[in-house]
Amino acid sequence: MTDTLRLAAADAPRAAHLLAQGELVAFPTETVYGLGANGLDPEAVAAIFAAKGRPQDNPLILHIPGPDHLARYCAHIPAAAYDLARRFWPGPLTMILARKPVVPDVVTAGLDTVGMRCPDHPVAREILELCQLPIAAPSANTSGKPSPTTAQAVWEDMAGKIAAVVDGGPCAVGVESTIVDLTVAPPRLLRPGGVTLEELGEVLGPVAVDEAVVRLMSTGEKPRAPGMKYRHYAPKAPVTVVRGEPRETAAYICSHLRPGVGVICFEDYVNLFPGCPLRSLGPEGDLSEQARRLFEALRWFDGQADVTAIYAQSPDSGGLGLAVTNRLNKAAGFHIIDL
Ligand code: AMP
Ligand code: MG
Repeated sequence: MTDTLRLAAADAPRAAHLLAQGELVAFPTETVYGLGANGLDPEAVAAIFAAKGRPQDNPLILHIPGPDHLARYCAHIPAAAYDLARRFWPGPLTMILARKPVVPDVVTAGLDTVGMRCPDHPVAREILELCQLPIAAPSANTSGKPSPTTAQAVWEDMAGKIAAVVDGGPCAVGVESTIVDLTVAPPRLLRPGGVTLEELGEVLGPVAVDEAVVRLMSTGEKPRAPGMKYRHYAPKAPVTVVRGEPRETAAYICSHLRPGVGVICFEDYVNLFPGCPLRSLGPEGDLSEQARRLFEALRWFDGQADVTAIYAQSPDSGGLGLAVTNRLNKAAGFHIIDL
C-alpha cells in the first residue's frame, strides 16, 4: 500500500516532479482522468499495468506538450499528422504513427506503432511542459471499469496504489480520445471520441471505420488494435440499449419495468420512471452533456446492489453520438434492441 496524495490543480509542479522520479500520478485531461508515468522508463510504465490490472498486450498512449515533440518518438510522420495537429491539438485526438526505437516495448506492447496525443487541459499541459517527457497515460480506472471523469472516481479505483491524484474537476469531454491510425491508407478510425469522424474527414478525406467500433468482435477474431478485443466499461448489471425514436424507446422501457430494473434515459423522459433507480444523460439533443455523463451513470449503477438489469435510451450515432453510442453499446456487450 502506498499513501496516495490528493493534490490540487495548483500542485501540478509537484505532480510533474513525481512523474520525473518514476512515480505514478493520475491527472485530469479534457477527455477522462489519465494514469501517468514517464513513458521512457520501462519500470514506471510496467507499474501502470500493475495498478490497473491491465492486460500486457494493450498498448498505451504517449502524451506530449505539442506537435514539435512528435519526431522524437515517431518515424515516417506523414504531413497529415501535422495537418491534424494544427486543427485538433491540443485536443481529444490520438494518432497512431510508426514508432522510433527510443519508445520502450512495454508502452506499445511490442507493436511497431505508437499512439500520440497532446491533451487540452491546463493541468495536463502544465505537467507536460514541466516534465518535457512523453507521459504514458491510459485512463485511470481499474481495467474493465468505466473510465473516471472525476478525481473521486479515480480515488475509488487507485487509492493506495499510486503516488498521487491531481483534482482538476470533472472532465469537459467525458469519453476517451478519438484514435485514428495514420499508418494505413485510407486512415482508419479505431475509436470514436471528442473529435468526430466528420471532422477527421474534413482534414483527411475518406476515413475507414474499424469494424470493432460498431459491432461486437467474436472471440476468434483478431482485432486491428490489441485493446479492441477487451470488453470495456462493463457494469455489474447487464445493459440493454434501446435504439429508435426517443419517445418510442422511452415507452418501450416503461413497458419493461419490473423490480430490479434501472434506467438510463434522457432528461426529457425522467418523469416516466418515478421511483426507479435512474440516471439522466441530459437533454435528448445535447450530445456533449450525454458524453460527459455516461461513465458516471455506469459507475453509479455499480453501487446499486438491487439493480439486476439496466435499460438505456440510445442517442443517434452522428457526430459525437458515434462516441457516446460506442461506449454505451460496449457497456451492453452490443445487446441492442432496434425499434
Ligand atoms: P486507454 O488509454 O485506456 O483509453 O487505452 C488506450 C487505447 O489506445 C487502447 O484501446 C489501445 O488499444 C489504443 N492504442 C494505443 N496504442 C496503440 C497502437 N500503437 N495501435 C493501436 N491502438 C493503440
Ligand atoms: Mg481505458
